[in-house]
Amino acid sequence: MRETQNPGIKKRSSNKEFAVVTYFFLILYAALFIYFCYFIAIKSESFINHAANPRLSVMSEHTIRGEIRSSDGKVLATSKVSEDGTEKRSYPEGSKWAHAVGFAVNGMSGAEADANFYLLRSHAFFLERLKNDVMEQKNQGDSVYLTLDSKLQDAAYNGLGNYRGAVIALDPESGKILAMVSKPDFDPGKVEANWEILSSDEDSAALLNRCTQGLYPPGSTFKIITALAYFRDKKDEDTNFDCDGTFTSGGYTIHCYGNTAHGKQDFLEAFAHSCNTTFAKTGLILGKGDLRKASEDLLFNSKLPTELSHVKKSSFTMDDKADDALVMQTAIGQGDTLVTPLHMATIASAVCRGGEGVAP
Ligand SMILES: [Zn+2]
Repeated sequence: MRETQNPGIKKRSSNKEFAVVTYFFLILYAALFIYFCYFIAIKSESFINHAANPRLSVMSEHTIRGEIRSSDGKVLATSKVSEDGTEKRSYPEGSKWAHAVGFAVNGMSGAEADANFYLLRSHAFFLERLKNDVMEQKNQGDSVYLTLDSKLQDAAYNGLGNYRGAVIALDPESGKILAMVSKPDFDPGKVEANWEILSSDEDSAALLNRCTQGLYPPGSTFKIITALAYFRDKKDEDTNFDCDGTFTSGGYTIHCYGNTAHGKQDFLEAFAHSCNTTFAKTGLILGKGDLRKASEDLLFNSKLPTELSHVKKSSFTMDDKADDALVMQTAIGQGDTLVTPLHMATIASAVCRGGEGVAP
């Protein structure tokens, strides 16, 4: 009996093993196929666009680097080929677009870096390309249009004047960056010639794009985040804030701007007045975990969801050991908190959209 039963049992178990192995490989192939499609459709361009990819330098040997233009068509970067075949990149608008457009030498920056692949790709008419290939001439690379608008860029550049700092404007609906100015600036056409000075001058740090890489105390713009934490947890408590222009706790005093006494006001009025004493009190009511949670929900200490490269992370570092002075300062945007202008514009856009964020 045993001898006649055993082969059947063995057969069933080996059938089962066979099925497991078959399904395992089927699932593996399906996963590989899905990843392959994903890579081709979505990932391959960013992979090719990586500065370290040698394929780009091969592409540049066969292509005249394309133009970079503003959304309204103004030429911001263009390449000309002289009779001896050398290609020269020029920037007709000079330093006004320095950080947004960037440069295509010495490691690249700005749109020149982020759109490198598209500038080296050619969709010229195929007969034209065929003729160029036969005659061993370069094809014209594609033009890249930025989301930035030349009139808004003019306004931002002139408005900032000779101050050091940054101006950035976002369209809150689409997340499109409409203007991006950082000063001190530089002439992108002279980066190679001036590289020694530009890269070593830490005082003016002209190469730094202050919109995306400058970290600043957020000041009163941080009151948006304190207000968010307040509305989440404490809006039912103490809705009347009486401001006499100063507020002291733990031996530290916070002043309203110009020592203005805002008097009795509810939280929304205090927000409208940017009342420092109300927000310092709110910080103490909230507790440190609430401010940290609201900040991190708004992407402090995280990477922003943007395809722009070299964007710094904003930082919120206040922990449970912080004293009253630091809590009060943090709640009004002073203290140790640091933010990029791009990040703050993104938070303001989320307010415009009723709380829903948008990728810049
Ligand atoms: Zn006040």
